[in-house]
Amino acid sequence: MLETTISGSLPKPAWLAEEVPLWAPWRIADEDQLAQAKRDAVRLALLDQEDAGIDIVSDGEQSRQHFVHGFLERIEGIDFARKKRIGIRADRYEADCPTVVGAIRRPAPVHAEDVRFARAHTSRKLKFTLPGPMTIVDTLADDHYGDRPTMAMDFARVLNQEARDLEAAGADVIQFDEPAYNVYLDEVKDWGIETLDTAVAGLSAKTAIHICYGYGIKANNDWKKTLGSEWRQYAATFPTIAESQIDQVSLELAHSGVPTAVIDLLGDKDVLVGVIDVATDTVETPGEVAALIRQTLAHAPAERIFPCTNCGMVPLARTVAVAKLRALAAGAAITRDEL
Ligand code: ZN
Repeated sequence: MLETTISGSLPKPAWLAEEVPLWAPWRIADEDQLAQAKRDAVRLALLDQEDAGIDIVSDGEQSRQHFVHGFLERIEGIDFARKKRIGIRADRYEADCPTVVGAIRRPAPVHAEDVRFARAHTSRKLKFTLPGPMTIVDTLADDHYGDRPTMAMDFARVLNQEARDLEAAGADVIQFDEPAYNVYLDEVKDWGIETLDTAVAGLSAKTAIHICYGYGIKANNDWKKTLGSEWRQYAATFPTIAESQIDQVSLELAHSGVPTAVIDLLGDKDVLVGVIDVATDTVETPGEVAALIRQTLAHAPAERIFPCTNCGMVPLARTVAVAKLRALAAGAAITRDEL
């Protein structure tokens, strides 16, 4: 019980990409050397998590520059040479997004080899993350579909093919990242859940959805200040998500305005509770982590609680991220002992 895990990403070693800035370019130009360097970074990410005592580990997304575009780079129908600067997450901030120019198709598995490699280098349970359908369509310019639900459903089918391959390659948990679920609350009900259920159809691996308030960048921190003392986004979507086919829901809790009682709305889903804040360099003490986990136990049994990070740790310094991994595992251990 209280198995620990992370949202997904970890900082990259300085020899692979510059530390801290999001979407930093690769530092190695040679294709073969870059591929080797990414694999080395995956081994370190696995080792850092194992050393800290994390139970369900990820590859730290070391092979991807961007959590959405990294998957899309190998999907047909998207023109990466035609990037447009568009407002995303309801215009919260702007990003250079590639353009959808034709029907979406996956000519070959995208991350199966990454999963096989990670699987071969850890004996722990392995999680792999993919962007979710709604967040994908919100992070693309569209010159083809002209309709978000239709485009999202095509992506959901492609994601399902990919997820089946990742499961076969040895992933124990397949997580879909959907920060857009905290932005488009009505769309979650109108078409979001249907695309999510399509993405996870027929999988026997554990499936998860990660819904957060974003990395600790200025646009997100400013947005959070407008949300009032009690953040109500999860309360609006969780009752619908509770009816979906997904097994686990990953939410942000540490240093947030999220009331712990939203966990009550998730029915019998596993709950990945964010007890590590990724928007600050201040490292939580194990005692602080334990206190937060204890709060959640009033809302779900320990078997369904998985202490986790609020979001990806890619924009943090590596030393900070490693210290936070340790605090996460140590805090969970304290609570486990109490039980
Ligand atoms: Zn996140």
